Amino acid sequence: MAIAILRNDDRTDSWIRALEAVAPEIPLYDYHQPHPREAIRMVGVWKHPPGSLWEYPNLLGIHGLGAGVDFILEDPDLPEGLPVLRVVDPYLASDMAEYVLAQILSGLRQLPAYTLDQYSNRWNPRPYNRIEDVRVGIMGLGTLGKAVADLLVRTGFDVRGWTARSQPATGYPVFQGPEGRQAFLSESDILVCLLPLTPKTRGILDQSVFDQLPVGARLINVARGPLLNEEDLLEAFRTGQVAQACLDVFSQEPLTNSHPFWNHPGISMTPHVASVSEPESVAAQVIANYRALLGGGPLANEVSRERGY
Ligand code: NDP
Repeated sequence: MAIAILRNDDRTDSWIRALEAVAPEIPLYDYHQPHPREAIRMVGVWKHPPGSLWEYPNLLGIHGLGAGVDFILEDPDLPEGLPVLRVVDPYLASDMAEYVLAQILSGLRQLPAYTLDQYSNRWNPRPYNRIEDVRVGIMGLGTLGKAVADLLVRTGFDVRGWTARSQPATGYPVFQGPEGRQAFLSESDILVCLLPLTPKTRGILDQSVFDQLPVGARLINVARGPLLNEEDLLEAFRTGQVAQACLDVFSQEPLTNSHPFWNHPGISMTPHVASVSEPESVAAQVIANYRALLGGGPLANEVSRERGY
């Protein structure tokens, strides 16, 4: 009985080392190396090759190796009936909160514009905003959204959140569902997106959302690229509805060389690094789930296939 790791990047070895450190007795295999497919009872996946899960006839569960599971649930060859699990990690949440805080403060003080000025030998003092001048709206108050909201509240920001249906106990307003969307957006000078990518949220950051934000709003998308309608964002810049955007995720990653975002003066970009799952930090929960799959115990962080997150 064993685990196989299926990833599309060069991090398989570090995942295997971290899992081995927790459970040296469990055989662990890299999908890209020869291994006995029938011995595999759980796979750990990050953007696995399409169709690859069917190679394992004795699989008991599929463990995502990150917080988002959209790439698993979108696999047209996803075996039916097996539990899909994800990673929930305090570091993932605090790293995300620190990234969003850094981007917000950087925007308030116009730091991206000063970086461009510096490269052009330009001495150009600009006006700035204070924390008390802006209201922040967070789309999605799950593990990550809540951590972001908590840090922003502690820093003094005026925060509100938006969920599908949950009403978490918070000290700030939380709006729900389509009926709460307009009120939520109309109070969000800075809109932070931390929604999962599902059939309901794909393309949700579109013109109708931008139109309901206060004029000159700022967008921070740290969730998934396909949540954003990129053409609509460019149009919202043209009309002045959106003044700044910080994007960590894109429909196509890496972004193509010719993409208009690269040289857009209102857009700051990072290469999907807002918060990265560290194998050492989450290996114990992945192994615990493997043992629960074998022993029939309770699973942690199982996602709902029906909801998509
Ligand atoms: P969770 O599943 O914990 O939370 C999701 C939140 O979104 C919940 O509050 C949920 O509402 C809300 N939601 C879902 N669908 C809708 C909808 N249709 N309308 C309104 N609200 C909705 O997710 P996490 O916080 O763990 O992660 C969020 C996403 O962040 C991940 O799916 C992943 O794509 C992305 N991510 C990005 C990283 C990066 O480096 N850029 C790193 C890690 C994750 P409710 O509470 O009612 O269920």
